Amino acid sequence: MFKGLCRKFYALLRKEAVHENEPQRILFLLRIILLILGLYFLIIPLVFCIVGPKTEVWTGYIFAAMSVAAFYATYRLKVHTSVLVCSGLQLAWVIVFVVLYGWDCGIQHLMFEMLVLVYFAVYNSLVYKVSYTVVLFAVRFSLFLYCRVNISVFALTETATVVLQIINTIVTFVLMAVACSMFSSNVESAEKKLVLYNEQLKKQAGTDPLTGLWNRRQMIQYITEKRRKEPVMAFTIGMGDIDFFKRINDHWGHDCGDAVLVWITQHMSRELGEHAKLCRWGGEEFIFFFPDMNGDEVCFMLNTFRMKLGNDLFDWRGEWIPVTMTFGVEENDFKSNIDTLLKNVDAKLYMGKEQGRDRVIY
Ligand code: GH3
Ligand code: MG
Ligand code: MG
Repeated sequence: MFKGLCRKFYALLRKEAVHENEPQRILFLLRIILLILGLYFLIIPLVFCIVGPKTEVWTGYIFAAMSVAAFYATYRLKVHTSVLVCSGLQLAWVIVFVVLYGWDCGIQHLMFEMLVLVYFAVYNSLVYKVSYTVVLFAVRFSLFLYCRVNISVFALTETATVVLQIINTIVTFVLMAVACSMFSSNVESAEKKLVLYNEQLKKQAGTDPLTGLWNRRQMIQYITEKRRKEPVMAFTIGMGDIDFFKRINDHWGHDCGDAVLVWITQHMSRELGEHAKLCRWGGEEFIFFFPDMNGDEVCFMLNTFRMKLGNDLFDWRGEWIPVTMTFGVEENDFKSNIDTLLKNVDAKLYMGKEQGRDRVIY
């Protein structure tokens, strides 16, 4: 029962306004602020009944009624108008309170919360925000001067001043904390989304969309970075190219060629992925970067892979297609730069093609 009521109340706070595309979180915040203010306005007359003066206590009830009206208005008005209504209500309260009970009760601090509200809740121009700040400053300073010249309508006892100071300070801090926590979580979630989006973009920029392997750009970046960190690192580069791939395309179609590329990638990832970084260098060419492995070890590994590939046929809609690959292998000689190593491995791959394909040249 209680849970059901809470859920309904929460839904009411979260309910959208009649206007479309309004920032939901700001509406939610405004309603919470108005709720806190409403309670505060109701408590204030009770406080006056205890600590005095007991006259004019109806002011609190009027403001409580106005906060209910402002709460209702959040469902009808545009958000920036609702923010202004909420601020206007608070400003009116500050003026009335200071005039009636003087400067010493600390209600003027509520203006700082109003400042935060307008700066973060409304996506208005800077001119608008600066004008708003100037108005708030002018009102605050005028009230201060007013209190220097005039005495308050009601004189408060020392106890009443302290009690009101405490209540006003609490309500100001609570409202400020509610507004700040909402805006900081807004910024946090926006930042999180941005970081995630950035990571996605980075990943996309370095990934081949068909096979999901790194692309050439990512591989070069990886090797360059790796060599910068460990200039004397041992590694071996392998380059693989599918034999007569054009024939596959020509005979079974481009879709079949694509499917072969994906199938080969799965094979390579399974057999070599643990030892090497794989990349689709372009077309039907792949580069493998084997850290901490020498040329002989890589040769052995690629030959094992080549033989496994030879024993497997690619199933294209019931037709079994043999696919072979030729590889070049080049070990880091600690002298050549990466371009030279890539040129050498490419020459070895070409040699393998010339010698009849389906082999590893080291
Ligand atoms: P070789 O054994 O000498 O490597 O012969 P090959 O036919 O494999 O080599 P060639 O360079 O003559 O042809 C490669 C073909 O790969 C040509 C190109 O249309 C095709 N190709 C490149 N990228 C893709 C792709 O993403 N999908 C498909 N289906 N084909 C591609
Ligand atoms: Mg080829
Ligand atoms: Mg090729």
